[in-house]
Amino acid sequence: MSMYAAPVARLIDEFEKLPGIGHKTAQRLAFHILNMPMDKAIAFANAIIDAKKTIHYCSVCGDLTDTDPCRICSNQNRDRSVICVVESPRDVVAMERIREYKGLYHVLHGVISPLDGIGPDDINMKSLIKRVGNGEVKEVILATNPDVEGEATAMYIARLLKPMGIRTTRIAHGLPVGGDLEYADEVTLAKSLEGRREI
Ligand SMILES: [Zn+2]
Repeated sequence: MSMYAAPVARLIDEFEKLPGIGHKTAQRLAFHILNMPMDKAIAFANAIIDAKKTIHYCSVCGDLTDTDPCRICSNQNRDRSVICVVESPRDVVAMERIREYKGLYHVLHGVISPLDGIGPDDINMKSLIKRVGNGEVKEVILATNPDVEGEATAMYIARLLKPMGIRTTRIAHGLPVGGDLEYADEVTLAKSLEGRREI
C-alpha cells in the first residue's frame, strides 16, 4: 500500500511520467504543488489545459502553433524557396534562436527507425514531398540530428528529392555526433548551417 493519500500518490505518479523526472523529483514537485496557494495551483493547471486546447500542428509545416498556418509559414518576409527539415518543434526553436535562418521549416515529428518499427509513413514526410513539388522550393536543408536515425532519415529524404531537381543539403558536422540539435549552442548551430553541404 502507498504511504501517501491516493490524490498525492496520483500527483507523484503523473509527474513521474514526465521525461527526465525520477521518483525523488516527482515527490518534490508534488509536495511543492501541495504547498502552493490554491490560486497558484489553479493557474498552473489551467496553463496546461489552455496550452493543450489552443496549440496544434501547423497544417503546412507541422510545427506547434496557435494559428494555422503558423506565424513562420504565414510570414511573407521569410524566404519561401528554402525549407529546413527538423525532427521536432524544439529544433525549430533552436534554429530560430540563431536568427540567421530566414527560410521555412518542416517538422518530421520523429525519424525513421526500423528497430523501433518507425517507417517513412509514420513521420510527417509525405506532406514535405508535396510541399517541395509546388515549384517554389529551390533548396531543402536536412537538419535532422547527427545520430544513426537522423543520418538515415536525411539520406532517405535526399534520395526522394534528388530526382525532383531540388538542391538538397545536410547541415555540417560541427555538431557533436549523437548530439541533439536543440542542445547545440548558437555559434555551433550557425556554423553548421553555414557549412552545409550538398548530398
Ligand atoms: Zn507552419
